[in-house]
Amino acid sequence: MKIAIVREQANGERRVAATPETVKKFRALGADVAIESGAGLTASIADADYAAAGAAVADRAATVAGADILLGVQGPSPDSLAGAKPGAWIVAGLNPFGERARVDAYAAAGFEALAMEFMPRITRAQSMDILSSQSNLSGYKAVLDAAAEYGRAFPMMMTAAGTVSAAKVFVMGVGVAGLQAIATAKRLGAQVSATDVRAATREQIESLGARAIFVEKVAGIEGEGSGGYATEMSDDYKAAQAELVSGHIAKQDIVITTALIPGRPAPRLISDAQIATMKPGSVIVDLAVEQGGNVEGAVAGDVVERHGVKIVGHRNVPSRLAADTSALFARNLYNFLSAFWDKDRNAPVLDEEIGNAIRLTQDGKVVNERLLG
Ligand code: NAD
Repeated sequence: MKIAIVREQANGERRVAATPETVKKFRALGADVAIESGAGLTASIADADYAAAGAAVADRAATVAGADILLGVQGPSPDSLAGAKPGAWIVAGLNPFGERARVDAYAAAGFEALAMEFMPRITRAQSMDILSSQSNLSGYKAVLDAAAEYGRAFPMMMTAAGTVSAAKVFVMGVGVAGLQAIATAKRLGAQVSATDVRAATREQIESLGARAIFVEKVAGIEGEGSGGYATEMSDDYKAAQAELVSGHIAKQDIVITTALIPGRPAPRLISDAQIATMKPGSVIVDLAVEQGGNVEGAVAGDVVERHGVKIVGHRNVPSRLAADTSALFARNLYNFLSAFWDKDRNAPVLDEEIGNAIRLTQDGKVVNERLLG
């Protein structure tokens, strides 16, 4: 059994799918591990550290040659995988809806592609959940990015020269990233409020010491769909939400938006007209910018200014904390493969529930229901 890790190819991707810690653990399971030279550099991991952990460090062709499993943060390009075993697994964040052509190419090349972001959100798979591990750090980083763009302080400070008032931070979308954004903004001393369409989040917001801002008394208010994810909301709800947000947002200094709906464009939460009501110098961070954006005028990969308000739209926020996010991503991959490791075959064997959820391609075809349906 050979596990291979090639250097990430996507522009701006600084993470790596294995660390010396996970290399050691894969070796202990009985696998050989090969890694492309330089794969860890942008996450502050030297080739020598991988070698010391028991990996063969080589060029890409030698790394891929004879591989049974290829690990990635993002999906490697199919052309770079020539020499891997027929039917080899590709285990990575494959962005199946956004990169459909690449999924088709994996099928055509005979690879079995497993999309880690399709991992079911069930208790036993929590330690394998890349969406949670990466979103958590994105929520933290979003607040730091906001603080860096904000020309004022977050905490209230009483000084001999007078008092600096606390920043008001509003978090829209209270999933994993939003909860961490609330906690981080609280730690920095901000006055924090938050909203979501899922009623269950009210208690979570309040338990972090923030104020919950919710649409009340509108039909279709329960925004929770399958797997704890949000659903698309009714038009009545959207109108009520826009009104509520308009009143609140004008008083905020920082807004962090994180709202996503699986398989659909991100919901639009803030309009240009609402931005115009905010104070100059305020900052909005749109963590959903790559999925279409929660904020009108947000630009993926840029910080833009509208009506004196900065709108931060960094791409690939987890990659901005590459050392920590790589460590967590790599553990998610190890936790997944080791949970299914069959000692006799010295290979992982998936069960039906998880296999069917994450397998995109098999035997030359696209097989995943979410892509076929
Ligand atoms: P997500 O990234 O899909 O979305 C972010 C948040 O945006 C969600 O809370 C969602 O409700 C909210 N949202 C969507 N549309 C909105 C709108 N119009 N206005 C305001 N907010 C809106 O969410 P996530 O972080 O992946 O979490 C989704 C759920 O999965 C949560 O219930 C979370 O607790 C759960 N979860 C479970 C597990 C597990 O059991 N393994 C792991 C992680 C998360």
